[in-house]
Amino acid sequence: MRPILLASRNRKKALELGQLLEGLPFEVVSLEEFPEYPEVVEDGLTFEANSEKKAREASLFTGLWSLADDSGLVVDALGGEPGVYSARYGGKESDGERNRFLLEKLSAVPPDKRTARFVCCATLFGDGKILFQASGECEGRILDAPRGSQGFGYDPIFQPPGMDRSMAELPPGEKHAISHRGKALAAVREFLKQLGK
Ligand code: IMP
Repeated sequence: MRPILLASRNRKKALELGQLLEGLPFEVVSLEEFPEYPEVVEDGLTFEANSEKKAREASLFTGLWSLADDSGLVVDALGGEPGVYSARYGGKESDGERNRFLLEKLSAVPPDKRTARFVCCATLFGDGKILFQASGECEGRILDAPRGSQGFGYDPIFQPPGMDRSMAELPPGEKHAISHRGKALAAVREFLKQLGK
């Protein structure tokens, strides 16, 4: 089986990527097997650019096909923040602190103006080129306070439309069915399936 390296040091994100590739005839390899691999500088201005950079650098370093995801939360009332800076928003160290920071910024924003979306761009890079790239989005709104303990990142403060639960209150399968990452990876899966034929 051809190996595919998941080019992310974010364990919870890598776990989700692994779940989303389950059942395909490829061997999923973790970046933990390459402790000497340096941190990638995410200096792109778009999810696409950062996703491509992460996949390319991991593939050129390891010689493996590499799958990277660049993702984040886009909040309308904050002019699109935190966007590509989601992982380090406000210079905060933890998911909990970033969530509190964001909720504080939105404290005066009424429910109907708290619209937001998660965005994910996934890139598969191998043999010196981009093999496939796909994006996915998940619309929703920002809650007043965190709820739930599943998922990661901004999941506790994000409510998908038509649901009375936060993203962090959904079991993995339910999150994957509607999430930005689930949508982008569905396209990646289809591409890999066609290759495997
Ligand atoms: P990066 O793609 O590694 O630069 O970081 C993405 C950041 O966006 C994460 O650290 C989270 O803060 C946030 N994020 C991305 N996807 C999700 C998700 O599925 N749920 C919650 N937060 C997410």
